[in-house]
Amino acid sequence: MKKYLLPALMLVIFETVAVALWLTKDNLFYLFNFSYIGISIALGISLYIREYKYARRVTQLLVGCYMLVYLGLIRNENMQIEGFWYYLFTGVFEAATIHYVVAKIFGPLLFGRGWCGYACWTAMVLDFLPYKQPKRPRKKLGWIRYITFLLSLAFVAALFIWHAADMERIMFLSFVVGNLLYYAVGIALAFCLKDNRAFCKYICPVTVFLKPMSYFSALRIRCDKSRCVSCGRCRQVCPMDVDVTDNSRKKANGTECILCLECVKSCPKKAL
Ligand code: SF4
Ligand code: SF4
Ligand code: SF4
Repeated sequence: MKKYLLPALMLVIFETVAVALWLTKDNLFYLFNFSYIGISIALGISLYIREYKYARRVTQLLVGCYMLVYLGLIRNENMQIEGFWYYLFTGVFEAATIHYVVAKIFGPLLFGRGWCGYACWTAMVLDFLPYKQPKRPRKKLGWIRYITFLLSLAFVAALFIWHAADMERIMFLSFVVGNLLYYAVGIALAFCLKDNRAFCKYICPVTVFLKPMSYFSALRIRCDKSRCVSCGRCRQVCPMDVDVTDNSRKKANGTECILCLECVKSCPKKAL
């Protein structure tokens, strides 16, 4: 049973958040929401422990579909970055704001870019594409993310400055259009650059929050140097080009690790 300590711990953390928000906000939705996510994550980790090949994908599909379909399309919560700005400007500390605070701003201090590996509904689709391992070297295009970040902020700010009518409806439409755009750009880039995660590396505005916080992540892959034979296999299979054999926080692309564990699975010496 000892090996199931990590999934149990994750479940406890999420249940604590679920109960705390349920009681403080007097809203049963939070109990359901965070319990569901906690159970999905715990299930994924347990499946991984049992060496099920698609363990991460199970969690990614369970959480990603829930966020996209139930929260986004059915409950009309704009869970994209525009939704975060919108609720922040209106001073409402509700689903999208809480989601950002937990998953993308403070959560990465604990679990790094785990969101990107196990929950994001954009990557959930991109991970079905054929270039799981990048076929070309990484490009120096990361600056684009700052432009998309500023554009998202400017879009929502403009709605407030011009007192746009029916903002709730605009936010819902922007969620639908924004997602379609993300998928179209993400798929096109993946095929052009032969890299499923090209969108994550160069375009995604959320990484402006995720990267600096995940630098300090408590949860990270470490390399046992005494076992490593420098075969390079881990680097080859990494979808995010992380130099995982370097244990320093400043390692190449260290803030890009999505904790997918592909390197761990492929290491012939069990050094990771
Ligand atoms: S980088 Fe952006 S698109 Fe990629 S998985 Fe993370 S949040 Fe999703
Ligand atoms: S796959 Fe394992 S042995 Fe090979 S370089 Fe990576 S950590 Fe070292
Ligand atoms: S392969 Fe390893 S280093 Fe690369 S993203 Fe996945 S867990 Fe991180």
